[in-house]
Amino acid sequence: MFDSLQDRLGSILNGLTGRGALSDADVASALREVRRALLEADVALEVVRSFTDRVREKAVGAQIVKSIKPGQMVVKIVHDELVETLGSEQVAVDLNAPAPVTIMMVGLQGSGKTTTTGKLAKRLTERQKKRVLMASLDTRRPAAQEQLRVLGEQTGVQTLPIIAGQGPVEIASRAAQAAKLGGYDVLILDTAGRTHIDEPLMAEMAEIKQRSNPHEILLVADSLTGQDAVNLARSFDERVGISGIVLTRVDGDGRGGAALSMRAVTGKPIKLIGVGEKMDALEEFHPGRIADRILG
Ligand code: GDP
Repeated sequence: MFDSLQDRLGSILNGLTGRGALSDADVASALREVRRALLEADVALEVVRSFTDRVREKAVGAQIVKSIKPGQMVVKIVHDELVETLGSEQVAVDLNAPAPVTIMMVGLQGSGKTTTTGKLAKRLTERQKKRVLMASLDTRRPAAQEQLRVLGEQTGVQTLPIIAGQGPVEIASRAAQAAKLGGYDVLILDTAGRTHIDEPLMAEMAEIKQRSNPHEILLVADSLTGQDAVNLARSFDERVGISGIVLTRVDGDGRGGAALSMRAVTGKPIKLIGVGEKMDALEEFHPGRIADRILG
């Protein structure tokens, strides 16, 4: 569908082989293509601007050497900058706190929160041999608590028994108590979402956070979120305070720009990615792979 950035930059810059260094003008025309590639990958505009500024600083004056084509050289600068912005180091979900370690999952409705809660619980149970309890605090969507219960049955992970009529904060404190009394290592709280960000949602998340003192607050976000990714990540981070991001639907055909946008505006690590609907479709985040996708 798209020409790769490498091809585009090649046609602009490769004629420069044999010249000394990349000039302002060479870099400016290359950056127009970089900007286009990032926007096509759905990176948010404000992030594109600051990103291309950083690439400009690194590219202007870069020496053109015989062994590598100028187009490739700029692609490498862009790629390296993408990896650096996305976070070149793996950051795992942190369980380094007194048990039960509480993990709170937040995000918009439909982003994949409940599915990711099940996947994460399964992963911690199987790979890290943790005793995990899951609790759904989603009293808004009628079937949400039942959905988590079914996932618990499928994965063999305990869920907090459902008591009709309880509100989210009440469920959170019951879950904390059950996790403590039951000797669980980890408690994962699956919270309610909304179709869009609004104040009641943020107020509810802030209250749950205050009452349950989570060690991790993971923002679950659809990797196909376009320009809204910035607003989404910034709102949750400023109002609730997130410790990491889980990107879902990375198996889709999106180009992954949301990853760059969310990481750039919050500085919070992308800890895991969802790559399918099945309970084992949760993987570590590899910035190089997303960088390749963004570059096309
Ligand atoms: P919630 O409203 O945020 O709790 O979202 P759900 O967990 O109910 O997920 C909504 C839909 O997205 C479900 O059909 C999930 O199976 C699907 N889903 C969640 N994560 C992924 C993923 O990583 N890849 C794909 N392809 N689908 C996913």
